[in-house]
Amino acid sequence: MMRKVAVVLAGLSVATLTVRLKPDTTYNTATYAQAPQPYDLVIRNGRIVDGTGSPWYRADVAVRGDTIARIAPSISEPATRVVDANGQIVSPGFIDVHNHARENIFELPSADNYIRQGVTTLIEGPDGGSPVPLAPFLDKLDATQKSINVGSFIGQGSVREAVLGTVNRRPTPAELDKMRGIVEDGMKAGAYGMSTGLFYVPGAFTPIEEVIELAKVAARYGGIHISHMRDEAFGVLDSVRETIRIGEEGGLPTQVTHHKIVGPRNYGKSVETLKLLEAARLRGVDATSDQYPYTASSNAFVASMIPQWAQEGGRAQMLARLKNPATRKEIGGETVRIIREERGGGDPKNVFLAHCDFDASMAGKNLADVARLRGLEPTIENGAEAAMWIVEQGNCQGVFHAMSEADLERVMRHPATMIASDGWVQILGRGVPHPRSYGTFARVLGIYVRERSVITLEEAIRKMTSFPAQRLRVGDRGVLKPGMKADITVFDPARVRDMATFEKPHQYAEGISSVIVNGQVVFDGKAMTAARPGRVLRRQ
Ligand SMILES: [Zn+2]
Repeated sequence: MMRKVAVVLAGLSVATLTVRLKPDTTYNTATYAQAPQPYDLVIRNGRIVDGTGSPWYRADVAVRGDTIARIAPSISEPATRVVDANGQIVSPGFIDVHNHARENIFELPSADNYIRQGVTTLIEGPDGGSPVPLAPFLDKLDATQKSINVGSFIGQGSVREAVLGTVNRRPTPAELDKMRGIVEDGMKAGAYGMSTGLFYVPGAFTPIEEVIELAKVAARYGGIHISHMRDEAFGVLDSVRETIRIGEEGGLPTQVTHHKIVGPRNYGKSVETLKLLEAARLRGVDATSDQYPYTASSNAFVASMIPQWAQEGGRAQMLARLKNPATRKEIGGETVRIIREERGGGDPKNVFLAHCDFDASMAGKNLADVARLRGLEPTIENGAEAAMWIVEQGNCQGVFHAMSEADLERVMRHPATMIASDGWVQILGRGVPHPRSYGTFARVLGIYVRERSVITLEEAIRKMTSFPAQRLRVGDRGVLKPGMKADITVFDPARVRDMATFEKPHQYAEGISSVIVNGQVVFDGKAMTAARPGRVLRRQ
């Protein structure tokens, strides 16, 4: 048979010859090369933090194609491109296991806000929400030229909504089978597991037995379960128990996502939640958590401010309940409680609007501002009235300041906590989103490693790289060693920091000097390059 084989002649020139080979005979041309082929990329003079948690060491890193070819104290062979790390940190690219990329990734496939904080992989489908079916979404992503790698979970809430809508009832056996089938299709399409969002409608209407039945399907395909828990406030301990039970009875690794303690009266409960996770691990349940480094959360305004029973059946039914004076009063009473004790942190000033689809000028205002705009004193009761008015106007994303720094740091210190942003691909200047989309990873490195020494640099990098990779069973990323895919972040440990604030979130992180995805430089320290080497990642 005829094959084209490249051979090296006289150690200098390369020619392509057509030679006749026996079938079954393969030649590894590299084996016969007399002179080294130039590397595609060499990063010189770096301090390697390899992602495993081991202490840094000095070395050069050589890349050929999309793969790390060699790591050695000094690599002097020629290279098509050289990056001088100049003593800075060279680490694996960061892997974000909780990400809402799907809305904007097609509009901004360079995902600048993530690349520019060193993130090279985003995992979509968190909080029980994913495209259903999943395969067409992944195919569309395949066809999109992008800077960053993207994978996904299949979302239990979306699966339930596709079969039952948003009603609060148990499924029939036939409906349960249908849900199993959708989860199975998602896993076959390459999902890394199943996410739940038991806080949200319709996830909130799901009995745990039903979740466990679907988790078993994800388990058969080697997936994990990751949960935005039913209750992160007064019921947080029971919710952690429930998350553990899903892993234990579903037969798969389970994860508390964006682990937080909501509401001043619950502050300190992370002592207990971490004990629950540790006890589960001791008896052999693989339970972990992830976290973003901020004391404010962000999600759909309606989901956080309106009781779940009032959302049943969809928006039209919710609006009818708000029109009825008796049910409005009941809803308002619960919203008062939410402001006083849960996501409002005791004051309507703690609840902000990130953006609203009915009025761009609402972005950045808090509930006290909205109450005043409507001619009301900014009391908690009037804050609840303003919240119901907002929900009646349309959809908003909210930002809620109701967590404590002590819980945040305690959760971060725990070795079974990884870092994840829970953010979006952001269009520069649009709305007033939670700053985590721009700052999460750089903030951990700047504030919690350098300024406060809450965790070491090597531990922080492990929480951003090898730990999430191992969790997802992504075997070829998350550690710097030969043979791994060349997703690499170079940063200055003395300068890296988040710039995005709650007031001015649209600011890129600083101190990141090179980001490499699948062997290609996508950010050179000043600007995004034209390279679009990102891939869709599917569970192996
Ligand atoms: Zn969430």
